[in-house]
Amino acid sequence: MSGPLTSALTSNAPKYRLSLVWIRRDLRLHDHHALAEALSQSEKIQIVFVFDRAILDPLEDKADLRVEFIWESLREIQGALRAQGGELLLAHASALTALPAMAECLGADAVFTNEDYEPSAKLRDARVEAQLQSKEIDFHRFKDQVIFEKSEVLTALGQPFSVFTPYKNAWLKKLSSTAYQDHRINFNDQLHRPSPELTEKFALPGLEALGFQRSALATLKVRPGSAGGHALLDDFAARIGRYDETRNFPAVKGPSYLSVHLRFGTVSIRQALRLALRVRDTEPGESAGASTWLSELIWRDFYFQILHHHPRVVLQAFKPIYDRIQWSRDETLFKAFCAAQTGYPLVDAAMVQLNATGYMHNRLRMVVASFLTKDLGLDWRWGEAYFARKLIDFDLAANNGGWQWAASTGCDAQPYFRIFNPITQSEKFDSEGKFIRRYLPQLKGLSAKSIHAPWLAAPIELLGAGIRLGEHYPWPIVDHASARESTLARYSVVKDGTTTP
Ligand code: FAD
Repeated sequence: MSGPLTSALTSNAPKYRLSLVWIRRDLRLHDHHALAEALSQSEKIQIVFVFDRAILDPLEDKADLRVEFIWESLREIQGALRAQGGELLLAHASALTALPAMAECLGADAVFTNEDYEPSAKLRDARVEAQLQSKEIDFHRFKDQVIFEKSEVLTALGQPFSVFTPYKNAWLKKLSSTAYQDHRINFNDQLHRPSPELTEKFALPGLEALGFQRSALATLKVRPGSAGGHALLDDFAARIGRYDETRNFPAVKGPSYLSVHLRFGTVSIRQALRLALRVRDTEPGESAGASTWLSELIWRDFYFQILHHHPRVVLQAFKPIYDRIQWSRDETLFKAFCAAQTGYPLVDAAMVQLNATGYMHNRLRMVVASFLTKDLGLDWRWGEAYFARKLIDFDLAANNGGWQWAASTGCDAQPYFRIFNPITQSEKFDSEGKFIRRYLPQLKGLSAKSIHAPWLAAPIELLGAGIRLGEHYPWPIVDHASARESTLARYSVVKDGTTTP
């Protein structure tokens, strides 16, 4: 006799005979909350993944960096499980139906998974849970993607925070070692060994079978999986002490480049936090860098809790009054922006970086988001959607938060009258034009003075650099000074509803 009933009758016996661990944005086999819980409550566990058609089918670019990153990370997991006598089982269908069907087919008593805070994922999980319940299969969810979730950090009045600094202070006050404990994984002999038929039925499909093809991942030297994440973490550990000084300069190797690994969970957020705290607390000369990086990790939690408490931000301004703004609908300007043809070199170099690599430096994300909304007057949702298509680290909470911050429509956002000047940003953060030259080689011959605004260069310099404006590089598509005036007028409809300088 076996199963949950026997287990319940035997003291210390696991609660479940077989549990599925459904991995989603936690593609690793270490420091994994749901996996650790499943192992402690089950005789056997089976790790499963669903290539959800509801997510994959709408993707237009069939050489998608993210799909290949996920696929390669799953291959890493499959290899590690096989080395220990287990298997990774996969489906390619709608998760809504595939996950409950897999659980039933494998005879599982429970499904363990980590929380996902995006509105569509919450809906999916509620529906999956209902289906599992109807089959008498338990469904358990755990906090894993963030340090503090949902309503764990609230104001003294029990309200969600909408301003970052007090949130950060409350977050730091609440922090204790349990929040970043390592959920260690020891499989013992608990890996389920599915039959050859089931192994074949739920085998890892090739990229082509999923409707995709190889992307530029290997050419770009983006190393997927936990092996890639750990290599970056080690590399950054040697630089974290200088993060506060280097992080704003896109030509410098300042940030960690871990965002894609935090997005897909090939590195756990607790690992990242443990690094920041260790350096902050034990290396006096490096603590400023580590504390600044820690703040960035807290911004990440901040935007997750904003999305959790205010799911309407997916479609609307965080501050509703900003939905009254009349945005321009000029598609020609938007096309020029996406094609890196604005005539503002820092903006264009950033967009080339995004289009070619799927990554963009944080300073540049702020500069281009400000440019789209405040120089071109276009709706932040257009830019947000373009980033969502292109970013390898695309994350709804951070992307939406970043765009609403730049557009001044969000929580704790830039005041609307603070408008980045794309030329002075360029002079300040890429003073030698190193970053611009890397991504816009046609401007290589310009001096450090002229490269930020080529239309202001002397004709003789342009001639010497082999640049004819309008032919080798565009004239600016808008004039910043007049765009600034239009923006102030556009935002004046909300003047009374916002902070003043
Ligand atoms: P580091 O500087 O090394 O930071 C470490 C980690 O902290 C990042 O990997 C990220 O997980 C987190 N982080 C850092 N800054 C922020 C922030 N402002 N908000 C939330 N989390 C942060 N980040 C994404 O992960 N996905 C997105 O889709 C995304 N879209 C953005 C859009 C805009 C308009 C803006 C202004 C910012 C956006 N960010 C986004 C935040 C930030 O730009 C990236 O996290 C960062 O550039 C990633 O590089 P990194 O890993 O080297 O960062």
